[in-house]
Order: sequence, then C-alpha cells, then structure tokens
Amino acid sequence: MAQSESIATERFDAVVVGAGFAGLYMLHKLREAGFDARVLEAAPGVGGTWYWNRYPGARCDIDSMQYSYQFSEDLQQEWEWSERYATQPEILAYVEHVAERFDLKRDIDFEVRVEASRFDDAADEWVVATDTGRTIRARYFIMGVGCLSTAIMPNFEGHDDFRGPVYHTGHWPSEGVDFTGKRVGIIGTGSSAVQSIPLVADQAEHLYVYQRTPGYVVPAHNRKLAPEEVAEIKADYRGFRAQAKAQPTAFLFPIDERSALSVSAEERSARYDEQWEIGGLPFLGAFADLMSDEAANETIAEYWRGKIREVVNDRKIADLLTPDTVFGCKRLCVGTNYYETYNRDNVTLVDISGNGIERFTSEGLRAAGADYALDAIVCATGFDAMTGSVSRIDITGVDGLSIKEKWREGPKTFLGLTISGFPNMFNIAGPGSPSVLATMVTGIEHHVEWITDCLSWMRETGKTRIDAEPEAEADWGKQVAEAGKGSLRTACDSWYVGSNVDGKARVFMPYVGGFPKYVEICKGVVAGGYEGFATDR
Ligand code: NAP
Repeated sequence: MAQSESIATERFDAVVVGAGFAGLYMLHKLREAGFDARVLEAAPGVGGTWYWNRYPGARCDIDSMQYSYQFSEDLQQEWEWSERYATQPEILAYVEHVAERFDLKRDIDFEVRVEASRFDDAADEWVVATDTGRTIRARYFIMGVGCLSTAIMPNFEGHDDFRGPVYHTGHWPSEGVDFTGKRVGIIGTGSSAVQSIPLVADQAEHLYVYQRTPGYVVPAHNRKLAPEEVAEIKADYRGFRAQAKAQPTAFLFPIDERSALSVSAEERSARYDEQWEIGGLPFLGAFADLMSDEAANETIAEYWRGKIREVVNDRKIADLLTPDTVFGCKRLCVGTNYYETYNRDNVTLVDISGNGIERFTSEGLRAAGADYALDAIVCATGFDAMTGSVSRIDITGVDGLSIKEKWREGPKTFLGLTISGFPNMFNIAGPGSPSVLATMVTGIEHHVEWITDCLSWMRETGKTRIDAEPEAEADWGKQVAEAGKGSLRTACDSWYVGSNVDGKARVFMPYVGGFPKYVEICKGVVAGGYEGFATDR
C-alpha cells in the first residue's frame, strides 16, 4: 500500500464500498448532511447484488411495495411496481432511477474494487487501496457490500477439464444465456436454483438438477399488482411502512397469534390452506409458534409434504424433494412451477446426497456413479454470506489486527454495525444485526440513518474517532446468541450459520430478536451518549 499511496492520495470524509441499495442511500444521506463522500463499486453499474444476479427467473420474493426505499415520499409515490414480486430487471431499473433522481452517479467510481484498507492510528483515518492503484484517505470507512454477494464457486475436481461454459447464478453474464437445444446441469437447489430451474427447463433440451439437500419451497403466487391495491397503499404509504416496521421482520403480512397446537387438526389444515393460497414467505405467519416450537413446526412440515405429493407425479421423486429438517430452518424458498417442473420429460433430478459432484469431465460431469454429458453447467451454489464480502478485503484495524483474524471464530460486532478495534468503520446490515431476517431495504435505511446521525454527532462534538468498546461488543455477542436460542432457524446447516463454507466458524450470524426491538436498542445507545463506544484512543 505504501508504494501506491505515494503515487496519489485523494481525501474524503467517507469512503463507501458498494453501490447497491446500501451504498446509494448512504451516499445520499452523507451528502445531505454535508459530508464529502465517494462510493467505490466493482461493477460497471449500480445495483450491487441486483446487478450481478441476472439468472433466468431472478426476482425478489419480498413484495415489491415493501422491498423498496421509503426515505422519500415522492419517490415511493411516483415509482410504479408492476408485479407483486419484482423481477431483477425491474429492480435494477428502480435502482437506476434512484441513482439518477438523486444525482448519485457523479460521486461513484465504477469498476474499482477495494482490495485493502488500513486504519491510520495517528490520523484517525482509513487508507483505502484499490485494484486501480488509487489510494484514498477517509475519516470514515463504510461497508455497503451486501450480505449475499460473494459467490461460492466450489472447486470441483477437473473443473478446467469441462469444455463447455460454467456459470454461477450470482455472477450471471449481462448479455444473458440462451440454453435452447442444450443439455444443462444445475448444481444446487436453494432459492436461486428454485427460481431458475423452471425457466431453464422451458428452454433446454434436457435439464439435470443435481441436488445435495432438498429445501422447502412454497408457491409464490406472483401476480400483476392491481391499481386499486397500489392506490390503497399509496394513500397512506407512511402508515403502511410504520406497520411493517412494527413487525419482527419489518415485513408486513398477517401473523396468526395462536399456537398451531391450540386448534383442531381441521382448523389447522384450513389455516394452512388459506396461507398456501396467499403464497410466499407469509406462509410462516400461519401460526405464531412455527419457528419456535418443534411440534408446531412439524404440523406445517406435514401439511407441506402432503401438498408436494399432490404435485409431483412420481412418489420417489417427491420423497427425494422432501427435506427431513425443520420447516423454514434454511431460508424458505419461494417458487413458481418448481415442483411441477419435475413432472417434465426433459428434467431429471439427480440425488447427489451421497458423494456430491464427483468431478467435472471434458464432456460434462460425474455424479452418483454416472457420467452426464452436458453442454453447460450452472452453479447455483450460493454465497459466503454476511461476512465474505467484508473479510475478502484486507482490512487492518488498530495494532495490526486483521478482520480475518478478528472474525476467525465467527463475526464479532457491536450492534452488527461496528467492530471493536476497527474505529470509524461501519458495516451496513452486518452480521449481528437483523439484516437478512428483516426486509433488507428497511434494515439498510435504519443503519444508514443511524450512521449519518453518528457522524453528524462526531462533527458537532469535535471528535475524530469512535470505536466499539470490547465489553459492549462481547455483551452484544451474548445478546445475539441468546436471541438465537429461541429460534428453530439455528437448528440446521445453512448459510445463516456459515456451514456452507469450508472452514467457516459455525455461528448463527443474524440478530433474530426482531427489528423493532433492535431499533430500540440502537436508539438507547444514542440516548446514552453513544454508550458502548469510546471516542478517545
Ligand atoms: P443457497 O441457498 O446457499 O443454495 C446453494 C445450493 O447449492 C444448495 O442447494 C447447496 O446444497 C448447493 N451446493 C453448494 N455447494 C455445493 C457443492 N459443492 N456440491 C453440490 N451442491 C452444492 O444459495 P442461493 O440459492 O443462491 O440462495 C442464497 C440466498 O440468497 C437465499 O437463501 C436468499 O436469502 C437469497 N436469495 C433470494 C432470492 C429471492 O429473493 N427470491 C433469490 C435468490 C437468492 P446444500 O444445501 O447441501 O448445501
């Protein structure tokens, strides 16, 4: 870094990494508060996760009227979402619109990857190094890098032997891919695979799906938004948002307050029928205790199994598609025609639960003891979630402490926002915050506003350095762990606990205590004069 630093050093109040939902709003707020900020983005355009995830069928499975910014009443009034669940192109168009509307691009540098950042203890500044050789100094270093943005491409044996193209859903070519007449293999059956499989099956000559572990998929029941329902929400969008923010997930859908075990089997089944028709993640709201009581959870799993057997013609395939884990333990998948696709003649489900993918070959791949001839391979193999996009940057805090070392046994944070030993650094939607368990855009807005207030307070009080105290961080870690104890989500292997990445510490990373409670805790810290933070050396 020293060498490039001597070439040219620019200076800003803040460097923000990433131009997705988080980075864009952070830039807007910083500017509004009179800070001089620069956003560095590796992609050629805005959108972050939504820039790269262009695979067939990519769309958000949170209702578009909620998966959007609420900071500007004019913005939320003027933007028209066309469907209940927005497609990736529509979300990208929205993010582009926001960038234009608030004139954000002039402070964003595209195709610049942050490679390293070091805290200069004497100056209370970060020294940020990029792959273009630029070095930037900034008082504040703010990560808006996304929770699910570092794609995992498994290192399959013989990877380079395969003669055809290999794609990752999280890094899809912007020009698109035409699978017409092709034999395609998709590895993985998580949310990305669930969305792409029906569309690829429509196009390909034959589709092989390589499944290691089945997941639970509920029907999306996507539809065009009716003008009346949009008008009703827009008549009091603020009120609608306030109701959503009062929910544990900051996602507004009806939650039945009863226990699944408090009603008769007939009533329970009728309730599940109702929710099945509504579709999507609200299915988990059928009863209050589905994610906290194993017996209650088993009732929804049993209902779900019955539904899948109705859809999938071949009982053996239906059984293969049926998980034996807690319902909703892994992130629930939301699909359209997912199970129906396995009734097609041109789709084969390959069970690789035994030995996984054995190897890639020049003609395709070898799995479950057989060779498969393929023209293209799609890895829908997920992400190094929540920590990967932070720790792949060579970040060094005080006393030479690296972020990789600091997080070796799992992410340690104060409020999910800050990391002790890394002063003046903030992590939007970081591990230890509700993040992936709350509507992402809403959680991002909360964090961005908290950070902006904090920086303004620093300026007003003439302080140049803020760092989480180790005790506050340790205590927060206990609170995050404690909240996790009441949730069945911690009970299985998933990216929530980092088990999908070799060598990653197994820790349930998001804060599951609920968005409203979390917001109150963050407010309390401010009310206590940034309690838990030190502002001196
Ligand atoms: P994922 O849920 O982590 O799924 C990855 C899949 O790849 C799993 O089925 C996994 O099997 C399999 N896999 C991984 N490595 C493998 C290997 N070496 N060999 C064979 N199989 C392997 O990833 P994702 O589908 O990209 O989704 C990640 C998250 O992104 C979602 O949970 C969701 O939060 C978000 N997302 C949201 C949307 C949406 O809004 N609609 C869409 C896409 C993604 P195992 O289960 O056995 O590990």
